[in-house]
Amino acid sequence: MDVDFACTQCAKCCHDLRLPLTIDEAIDWLSRGGTVELLSEAMPWLGEPPPENTGAAHKRRRSFAASSGELPVRVAVIVAAAFSGPCPNLLPDKRCGIYPERPLVCRIYPAEINPSVKFEPRHKACPPDAWANGSSALVRAGRLVDAVTMELIERSRQIDAVEVAAKAHLCRALGIDRAAISNEGFVVHSPDAGSLLNALQAAKYSVPENHSVSAQPESSHGDWRLVSNRRASVAALAAVAAHGEFVGDEPNSSFRYLSFGDSAA
Ligand code: SF4
Ligand code: SF4
Repeated sequence: MDVDFACTQCAKCCHDLRLPLTIDEAIDWLSRGGTVELLSEAMPWLGEPPPENTGAAHKRRRSFAASSGELPVRVAVIVAAAFSGPCPNLLPDKRCGIYPERPLVCRIYPAEINPSVKFEPRHKACPPDAWANGSSALVRAGRLVDAVTMELIERSRQIDAVEVAAKAHLCRALGIDRAAISNEGFVVHSPDAGSLLNALQAAKYSVPENHSVSAQPESSHGDWRLVSNRRASVAALAAVAAHGEFVGDEPNSSFRYLSFGDSAA
């Protein structure tokens, strides 16, 4: 597949989002008065995947080791700007009001950060004329070829990896110990802005200044409850002595559950 791309500046990608942020970006977003949430998911981790499994390597790089009862897991936490309708930084003329400081993910779109997600123009918000032949080459033979975007994606993955310990600190500081089962959904945590800003600023100091990933052996970051809206998943967790927690439709005061699909009996 070959894809050419030129942004039409239609701003369709600037609406109704949970926008993943780095810790510095989240501090800036909150400081501008925006809303930031934490999304958590956990995957059972019974052994290390082979290096050629790029999808598993991506998950491992952006998650920290933990446990749920007897089950070893890895927990991934996304710090995300959240907004319904237009982004609070979108100007009436569709320009970005923080263009020089816009988040990394805004610079990468419409490309994919996750190496296991295949790039598909039809899954993107961009209008048909953004993909007109003859504009800049984005993908050739199915591979991303735009050098600037490739460098941004590499930077994003590197920051994801070095911020893992900071996210573990952040969860501990905020008393967060629930995560959805990976691929079923996310647990969405919405701490008040002041507490979150303080916790982010404290967590920031656990990020290595040289942005290198620690070579130290990993420690386990707490005992987590795995939340699901599927009774079969909760029963499967109980069978391996993990802490499963069923979540129904009733509102919960300490978190929300964002399901990727229908609940099952
Ligand atoms: S920060 Fe700018 S580029 Fe990113 S979603 Fe908001 S308006 Fe769009
Ligand atoms: S939806 Fe696509 S074409 Fe429109 S502003 Fe976003 S990146 Fe550009």
